Amino acid sequence: MRIDRFLSHMNVGTRKTLKPLLKAGRVRVADKVIKEAKYQVTPETVVYVDDEPIRYQTNFYWLLNKPAGVISATTDPQKTVMDLFAPADYREDLFPVGRLDKDTTGLLLITNDGDLAHDLLSPKKHVAKTYRAKIAGVVTAADQAQFAAGLKLRDFDAQPAQLTILRTDTARQESLIEVEIHEGKFHQVKRMFHAVGKEVLTLERIKMGPLSLPADLKRGQYRALTTTEIDALQ
Ligand code: URA
Repeated sequence: MRIDRFLSHMNVGTRKTLKPLLKAGRVRVADKVIKEAKYQVTPETVVYVDDEPIRYQTNFYWLLNKPAGVISATTDPQKTVMDLFAPADYREDLFPVGRLDKDTTGLLLITNDGDLAHDLLSPKKHVAKTYRAKIAGVVTAADQAQFAAGLKLRDFDAQPAQLTILRTDTARQESLIEVEIHEGKFHQVKRMFHAVGKEVLTLERIKMGPLSLPADLKRGQYRALTTTEIDALQ
């Protein structure tokens, strides 16, 4: 869209009052002063007027590929997922939707949309989450049957979960699996494997609801959700 349209939508002025503002060199995108009213921007562009950042949307949605070693929280003495954000993308009202353990990697939605977060995390909505994990030991059809039947854990009964075996390595005593769960209790996947006598060596979330971890998104990187992805979440 044109930059004057972006700014008028964000109540910076009318197209008539914006023209002199642009001409005066008071508007920039990154380091570039923009004087042309027809200069094209997107809703993700941060436009600066007199050095004040103006953002188009009111709700922001980022998909992060969480690396290991950072905490899924907004503030913590240790490094958090919010510390991965560039200053231009960071807002104080952003937060991660749910938590991944410090050593878990993969898909984490970061937003300031509280209603959406509430819906995605509500136990009543049963939003599917898929994890890929390396397991110590050889995962068997008997384990799959136990996951499918629902596992009894110390303080709750885990709902039936679909366990797919991708690869087993009997020499190394390791397995690569995917598991789909519809709830999100603390350490849930690790505890489910513990219940069948196996240990999770690495854990990565690859799907949440309609979102998938993009193959080209490196650990520690994030990108804005596409409008299709945002619509699919509503
Ligand atoms: N299950 C776990 O055990 N850990 C996570 O981070 C997510 C799901």
